[in-house]
Amino acid sequence: MPIWNNRCLKDLKVSDAFLQTVLIVDDDRINRAVLAELLQRECRILLAKDGETALQRARDERSIDLILLDVSMPGMDGYEVLRRLRSEPQTANIAVIFITALTNEQDEERGLSLGAADYVVKPISPAIVKARVRNHLKLVAQRNELERLSEKDGLTGIANRRYFDKAFELAWRHAIRSGEPLSVGMIDVDHFKEYNDHYGHGAGDEALRQVAQALERAAGRPYDVVARYGGEEFVMLLPGLHELEPLLERLRRAVLDLNLPHARSRTAEVVTISCGGVVAFVSQTDKPAALLGWADKLLYRAKQQGRNRVLVWQGQKEGLFLPLGQGMASKPPESAG
Ligand SMILES: [Mg+2]
Repeated sequence: MPIWNNRCLKDLKVSDAFLQTVLIVDDDRINRAVLAELLQRECRILLAKDGETALQRARDERSIDLILLDVSMPGMDGYEVLRRLRSEPQTANIAVIFITALTNEQDEERGLSLGAADYVVKPISPAIVKARVRNHLKLVAQRNELERLSEKDGLTGIANRRYFDKAFELAWRHAIRSGEPLSVGMIDVDHFKEYNDHYGHGAGDEALRQVAQALERAAGRPYDVVARYGGEEFVMLLPGLHELEPLLERLRRAVLDLNLPHARSRTAEVVTISCGGVVAFVSQTDKPAALLGWADKLLYRAKQQGRNRVLVWQGQKEGLFLPLGQGMASKPPESAG
């Protein structure tokens, strides 16, 4: 049963409290049971009896915060498990504490130089293991919180470009593996400079906040990302989405419905947005930047055609898609819109 871990987090804000998970890896059933018993009130516990199982669980479970890793195990030993954890991006940053009966200094040095956070010698002292686990879980929680803050746009509260870049890279790789489409949209607030000039920067900031929130509400699927790309420009990432145009149209509508008066707009009486989007089936040879560049060109064209509109280029899995590499960036499709 998951247990909310408040004790490790008592110095953090309540809103930061989340379930922390510890994976215990030991070939000895008794050792696993002793550690699980010891920590069960501190965190959620997962168990693995060998290295292969541990690696599998670390890959499957997205939320492992800490691994207690036995060094001596038949088959793959703890050092090898750690080396493999570090070699995969998905598991590379999980904190690891070695728990071992090996007591010489070289063993300890080897473990630490492989990147273990700590080293505990068997027979364990329950109080010390508990304290060390607590400390490391707290560090992990603080690191996660910093990470979260560093990926959030200070003004609008939605994801920032740094977060987008990371999500885009993951989504790109997934799209190549899965053959699913990868949709991106670039969004720009129309006549925003005039808005700032007329209403002042404070009002401009508030308008951006409202637009950002409206975009985020209107997007809505779990893996969709709406991020501030810079200035009054936003970017969207929509993995697996085939029909981009209705969605961007919904966003355009949502911003219109905010009804923010814009006396200096030459497009409408209220704040509006323009959107350019591409539904792409990508392959190894394509460049992520080219896809964004393409969406940006469509956005530019939507602006030229009068703003407050959506232009989407729809890729086909069979047939027309994808012009490779450079071509994608330099030659926006004439069929756009
Ligand atoms: Mg062992």
